[in-house]
Amino acid sequence: MASLYVETHGCQMNEADSRYLSERAAAAGYEIVDQPDRANVLILNTCTVRDNAEKRAYGRLGHYKRLKDADPTLRLVVCGCLAEQDRHIMQQRVPYVDGIFGTKELRHLGDTLASWVSEFGDEEVVEARALLAPLGGRGDGLVDAFTPLRAYVNVQRGCSYYCSYCIVPQVRGRFDHRLLTEIDDEIRARVAGGAREITLVGQTVNAYADPASGLNFAGLLAHVAALPGVERVGFLTSHPKDLSDDLLAALAKTPRLNQRFHLAMQSGSNPILRKMNRKYTIEEYVERIERFRSFCPDWALTTDIIVGFPGESEADFQQTLEIVERGYFAQVYAFVYSPRRGTPAAKMEQLDPAIGAERLTRLMEVVNRHVQAYHARKVGTVVRALAQGPSRKDPQRISVKTSDNVTIVAPVHGDVSRLASTPWLDLRIDAAHIWGCSGTVLGMAERVDAERQAVAPMVIDLLAPQVALA
Ligand code: SF4
Repeated sequence: MASLYVETHGCQMNEADSRYLSERAAAAGYEIVDQPDRANVLILNTCTVRDNAEKRAYGRLGHYKRLKDADPTLRLVVCGCLAEQDRHIMQQRVPYVDGIFGTKELRHLGDTLASWVSEFGDEEVVEARALLAPLGGRGDGLVDAFTPLRAYVNVQRGCSYYCSYCIVPQVRGRFDHRLLTEIDDEIRARVAGGAREITLVGQTVNAYADPASGLNFAGLLAHVAALPGVERVGFLTSHPKDLSDDLLAALAKTPRLNQRFHLAMQSGSNPILRKMNRKYTIEEYVERIERFRSFCPDWALTTDIIVGFPGESEADFQQTLEIVERGYFAQVYAFVYSPRRGTPAAKMEQLDPAIGAERLTRLMEVVNRHVQAYHARKVGTVVRALAQGPSRKDPQRISVKTSDNVTIVAPVHGDVSRLASTPWLDLRIDAAHIWGCSGTVLGMAERVDAERQAVAPMVIDLLAPQVALA
């Protein structure tokens, strides 16, 4: 049987694309495997958002060449943003690659995989490959019992905002909104396949407009939340420029939304925001998040910040720190700026990278304090959250995500995968950490709004028998 390994770098859009490719390949007769040295076809789905993502992708291709040298029948494919950006460079730099597919050629790649399937017989991959040292990595296309519970659905490709540091408009093109009818079909299919939570993804989802009807993002959310079988709806990521009061009112009143809103800030300094071409001032950003808070008082607000951008002075950085110190954010994804070829910011005078690294350390000290305080406010409460699967660090613990995107880990006994069929868990939160919370399973439910069931004895934390089961 033909086998496929998919490795994904980058954002949720790439994850959604990898899932699509894995499903197409499985339907065409491939087995999806979790180790590259067990596959007939390797797909590397790449990212260009940061310099190290690019270096990592070329590093992985170098590793994969060793597999191909050992077994020339292996097919190696690159897709995603780096494939789009470096299509011509790759033909010179990694000529052993069998296919390069840009961001708009996913269907073509799916067709190509289907056309290859009959070329691989039933024999195991050649023995010489098994002798190679394991390459590591993770098979993101791999499906476990918990995977179908969550579905990422792309609603939009590309972006038309041209932030000066960002390569997305070059590699993914301008906004290309997907038809509501296509989104609707995909979500119904995902729900039929077991999805409980749908996350709508796009570079700027709140700019969505259905090409056929003009339906806006608020309308899309209402439509998706009302689809039969959809239990929760999330979305990533939003731009402050498109955050109207109408959308905020829609967030507050649409049922079944996850209570987490991600709104990238990037910097607390107006001169830096201008150089980034972000299209808002910090005063406008703060006004928007305070409006957001008045509509959605209990939601988590999360953000992105870049430090060490060209021209960022210590005073600019202090303004960023000052906004974070106000405690608006439940989580901050912070990065040191890295220049991307072909972007305006790459031509600006660059700061010493050590300055960015040092600022990131200082920023993370403040971020971690606020994140832990956010988590600490949950201690003693009981939440209902959707199972994610066994904890990576300890397979005897279940990892769940709350509606506001906090990870909780709790001990269970017996086979954790049993929880995939009754995946809503009620947990008492016992302790707060920077990474999330630890807790105790109190009960489980088949659906988000169903009555809590007692936990079967083998699932109860036997170390905490004093917990009363409802
Ligand atoms: S809004 Fe800016 S950072 Fe986000 S994808 Fe568009 S150009 Fe890139």
